[in-house]
This record gives sequence, structure tokens and C-alpha cells, in this order.
Amino acid sequence: MGRTAFQRDRDRIVHCTAFRRLEYKTQVFINHEGDLYRTRLTHSIEVAQIARTVARALGLDEDLTEAVSLAHDLGHTPFGHAGQDALDAAMASWGGFEHNLQSLRVVDELEQRYAAFDGLNLSFETREGILKRCRPELAQALGEVAGRFLRGGSPCLEAQIANLADEIAYSNHDVDDGLRAGLIDQEALQTVDLFARHSGAVRERYPALAERRRVHETIRRMISELIEDLTAETLRRVSAAGVRDVAEVRASPPLAAFSAPIRRDLTQLKRFLAERLYQHPRVEAVMGAARTVVSELFASYREEPQALPTEHRERFGRLGERAIADYIAGMTDRFAIRAHHELTGRRVPEFDAG
Ligand code: MG
Repeated sequence: MGRTAFQRDRDRIVHCTAFRRLEYKTQVFINHEGDLYRTRLTHSIEVAQIARTVARALGLDEDLTEAVSLAHDLGHTPFGHAGQDALDAAMASWGGFEHNLQSLRVVDELEQRYAAFDGLNLSFETREGILKRCRPELAQALGEVAGRFLRGGSPCLEAQIANLADEIAYSNHDVDDGLRAGLIDQEALQTVDLFARHSGAVRERYPALAERRRVHETIRRMISELIEDLTAETLRRVSAAGVRDVAEVRASPPLAAFSAPIRRDLTQLKRFLAERLYQHPRVEAVMGAARTVVSELFASYREEPQALPTEHRERFGRLGERAIADYIAGMTDRFAIRAHHELTGRRVPEFDAG
């Protein structure tokens, strides 16, 4: 029995180089800060697991959902959003840098493994799902895969589900990692309704439970509620819209959604994380250092393209600064730190612990 196109897409993603590099790329905590924190690899696996659960319950294509989920962060720079922001600023005069677009570049061009073509030659649906966002001025050049950013409309339901599963995954695992790191605490989390509701229920049912298990049980229940709500609300909207096929899904506004009360809960949780965790002085200090590393790497390679490895130097000749952005975006955290040290002779104190 052969594989379906979407199984093949999923398999090619799992075998590609960019996928393995996710293990050494920051989600929130730099890879060397501890062995238990999420990396972009474990994050992507959690997204796929959540998305597949919803896809199966809704009778969608699980393989397509999994392929989009596993590929969604392939274009992420080292050091999470700080790396992306620094690279976007460095590339301001050459079209900027956006990690969703970069994920598509990875699967369309940058992976070089197959004899007959560049990239992974993925199906339209997977590519459409990977391109989660795209500025209209860039959409034109991308053709049909970015068509909805010009005309409006939505990607297939599998892609919509993968996108919301991403939100469920990070907002829950960041609570777990933030608590583990001691950057947020359970008392402050009581102001977040979703957390307070489930931690209260867990306390009542298991009053003697040890702290780590209580946190885990609480987060497990939060994820379950979000998954069940997403499944029920999406089913409701799909029925109400009366869509019969994927063309009608694409012509509609997004149909995958949380109910209004759960959307409010999730927004409240995300705001808490933005204020208390992502902007925590300890996270900010490391992210500031990360921005320095990425922008100095970019400036060094621009000044001295001979420092680029042969293949990338050759691409620089053809593509200019975009080739530097592609090279830096592909780096893992520790590779970027090492390359920065080699090029500038400077060490960044925030990364010396590693
Ligand atoms: Mg993600």
C-alpha cells in the first residue's frame, strides 16, 4: 500500500534537516538553560498531538493536520521571537524577515535532499497551511499558495486547526515551563480564570497532591477543556455555515474557533504570559543578548561575505542579503553563539553559562 500525499508530506518533514535543528532552537528558554524546558521540537510535537486529536474528532485528514503542525516552525530563527525581530530589523531594506514565510522557503527551496527538485515538493494544502500569515505586498510573488492574503478567505480546516493547536500548546506549556523556572507562581496565576478554575477543582479532589503533580494535573485539564471547546465550536460553525467541500471552506471566514467564553479565557492567559513571563527581566536580558548576537552576525557576514560557508557565499552572489538571512535563520542557538564569537571575538555574558 502506498502512502497518501499528506503522509508523504509528513514523512518528508520529519526527515528534513530543518526539523532536526528544532531541537536546539529556543521556544522561550534558551536551550542550555535547562534540560526540561520545551524546545521548538517538543513544542512542534505537542502542537501535532493536540491538532491530531481535534482533526480525528472532526473527521478531518489527520496526516495533513500533522504535516502542517510539524512544519509550522521550520523557518524559526535561533532564540525565538527575539531572533526573528532582530533579523527582521536587519533585513528591513531587503523585504524584512518573517518566520511563517521562512517556513515555506525551507520546504520549497532551502532543503536540498532530493535528486529531482529543490525543497521537499510538498502538496498545495500543506504549503497553504504552513503560510499562516503573509503581508499582501509579498503575497503577489508567491502565487496561489498566498492567494487568500489578497482575496480574503481561509485555508483548509486542517490548517486552521493546526494554527489553533499551536496556541493551545504554547500557552499551556509556557505556564508549565514558567512555573518550573520560578519566573511565575501559582498565586499570581489565580488571576487567570482558566488556571484558577482547574487548579481549584484539582485541589478539591486531591487535597494532598504534591505540587508538581498538581500543576501537571491542572494543565492537563486546561488543555482538555480547550480541545473539547475547539472541537465543539468548530463543529457548530461548520454546520451553521453549511459548507460542503474544501472550496466552500476556503471561501468562508475561518470556521475553526473557540467559543466566545473560552476565547476570553485564552486571551486572559496569553496576556498574563506576555506581561509576567515573556517580559520578565530574566527572559528580557537573555533575549536582548540574543538580538545582539543575531544583528551582529548579520552585520559581520554583510561586511565579510567570505566568512560565509561556500554554498551560502555562492547564494549571496545570486540573492544578496536574503542569502545571509537564510543562513542565520537556519542556525541553532548554540551554533549562532559560536559563529558570533568566531566572527567578532566577543563573548556574550548572558550565554556564558552554557
Ligand atoms: Mg509554534
